Amino acid sequence: MPGGGGAPINRSFPDCSPPCDFRPALAPSLDKGHHVRLARSKRWGVEFYFSFLRFLLPARCALCQGILGVGSRSVVCGGCWGRVKFLDPPFCPRCGRPFWGHTVVHPPSHLCQGCRARQPQYLLARSALLYERDDPLREVLLLFKHGRRDALGGPLGRLMADRTAPLFGHPTIDAVVPIPLHRKREQDRGFNQSEILARVVGKRLQRPVLRKTLRRIRPTLPQTGKPRERVRNVRGAFAVVKPERIEGRSLLVVDDVFTTGATVNECAKVLMKAGAREVLVYTLARVL
Ligand SMILES: [Zn+2]
Ligand SMILES: [Zn+2]
Repeated sequence: MPGGGGAPINRSFPDCSPPCDFRPALAPSLDKGHHVRLARSKRWGVEFYFSFLRFLLPARCALCQGILGVGSRSVVCGGCWGRVKFLDPPFCPRCGRPFWGHTVVHPPSHLCQGCRARQPQYLLARSALLYERDDPLREVLLLFKHGRRDALGGPLGRLMADRTAPLFGHPTIDAVVPIPLHRKREQDRGFNQSEILARVVGKRLQRPVLRKTLRRIRPTLPQTGKPRERVRNVRGAFAVVKPERIEGRSLLVVDDVFTTGATVNECAKVLMKAGAREVLVYTLARVL
């Protein structure tokens, strides 16, 4: 009788993929759910270990090296958070480009030169924060992108969520769409930073996050270089998989950084072509 009295010590689990190192002798009555339990117990073990380390060794702020509070889960201190710049008016009502250093007071409908020359595909774009190329915020964003998703994803996402109402007013948004990474890059990195931000924003707005609707169908080079090269780099790189999910809907596209807007503009073009009613763009930061 399987599993009865003398349970076989070397019982194997041929269905397990990847091969399972669970020892049946230690838990003879395992079913296929043991994978989930194994992963969960490993994760708790790792989390407990790091909480203990954090308790013993107070971490330092990634930017100013000041000591963070005992047990802090963030990588940046309150003082450094306080120095970040928010995107406030005056800015272009369409693309959100700040009118910094302008001595002339523009009427609220005044568009920037770029938007006057060529209208973007999105209805409007806004960013929660601003940074210059040598700004310390850049370091925070790099930390977020290259590994510290747990420590930074939540605070940065909440910061975006907090700024949604002042930046967008009360728009009708039906769903949130993160800018996708190419499958290969997401596998290498282990996560998509835009998706982490989109999840926090979507939760606050109580709107669904459409993770698999917009796809990056070919790998692109990192967005560097002149604006025209950036536009060329992302042309034809995105596709909509299930257009019925976005047809007639108002979408909030979420990304981490807005530099020239080439990526979000290309995504807006593809989403509008697939039947979206309108596309609004929201990024965590905007490069000045
Ligand atoms: Zn600091
Ligand atoms: Zn503009």
